[in-house]
Amino acid sequence: AAHEHQFTMSSSEQTFIAIKPDGVQRGLIGPIISRFESRGFKLVAIKLTVPTKEHLEKHYEDLSSKPFFPGLIAYMGSGPVCAMVWEGRDAVKTGRVLLGATNPAASAPGTIRGDYAIDVGRNVCHGSDAVESAKKEIALWFKPEEVQSWKAAQFDWIYEKP
Ligand code: GDP
Ligand code: MG
Repeated sequence: AAHEHQFTMSSSEQTFIAIKPDGVQRGLIGPIISRFESRGFKLVAIKLTVPTKEHLEKHYEDLSSKPFFPGLIAYMGSGPVCAMVWEGRDAVKTGRVLLGATNPAASAPGTIRGDYAIDVGRNVCHGSDAVESAKKEIALWFKPEEVQSWKAAQFDWIYEKP
């Protein structure tokens, strides 16, 4: 119903996070999920999928004119990707902080790219850069019924107010 989204709790922001083929191959699914879980974010969708070229061209459509675009599409389609939706207050912005900078050389230790990557073309994990792009990416990678709505038992121990 139209009124369902009238009140959006700050703790319900969602971001699209994807462990790229290099991250999956290198056994980093567990460590990366752990960082989002232990920070207090809630996993609401997850799947392992090998995205098609067409799917990736949509996902990265803003970068289509970049010289690295063909290599990026080949890299992202080279094996399974662990696609996820994580939910929580400022999930998009804080998700980017957990990831580190686009170029791992500029990522601080303690971030995912700063701890696990060296090359910008093998930077192990994707995260949405804005709330609007997160909505677009979640809709591209997941059907609505694949995104779960659930209350984490630890909710009141993570948030003072919802
Ligand atoms: P992100 O949002 O931090 O992932 O960065 P962008 O949206 O700008 O770029 C998307 C992805 O393209 C990055 O995560 C990198 O894997 C790749 N990429 C970005 N810039 C470069 C570049 O200069 N060279 C190469 N080879 N890949 C790049
Ligand atoms: Mg980006």
